[in-house]
Amino acid sequence: MTKVQLAGALALMLVDRVACATTCNLTIEANDMMQYNLHELAVSADCPDIEVTLRHSGKLQAKVMGHDWVLARTSDVSGIINGGMAAGLAHDFLPANDRRIIAATKVVGGGETATIKFNSSALEEGASYTFFCTAPGHASVMRGRFVFGATKRVAQAGK
Ligand code: ZN
Repeated sequence: MTKVQLAGALALMLVDRVACATTCNLTIEANDMMQYNLHELAVSADCPDIEVTLRHSGKLQAKVMGHDWVLARTSDVSGIINGGMAAGLAHDFLPANDRRIIAATKVVGGGETATIKFNSSALEEGASYTFFCTAPGHASVMRGRFVFGATKRVAQAGK
């Protein structure tokens, strides 16, 4: 192998590792305007663990404009929201021990960050999932599609 070919192979390996990290670790932002910055998140079915980081880029406190990030089957969303409203901020607007919740961060206020890591074995390829905020009234705007396994892998050079 010439030096140039070796360098190329190393570069490909690095690109591959970066691509994987991008797919399994997601970051989403929320702000003082009651918005997420993304309306769709997608992860590869190859990810054994998925890590989602929620960053509140605003300035308002959690009791005024707190947000969380919750993942559930689309059909379970309204039930979780109703349960969360009854639970209140002290319980991060989440119904306790609710098995419909696949993953959830705590509620964060401006400048704060929360991360949740969960196993993808809870997910089924092709099923309809929605991520949303359980703060009262937020989910009408703060929600998006979560796609598991539908992402196409980037074609690998050299094969
Ligand atoms: Zn919110």
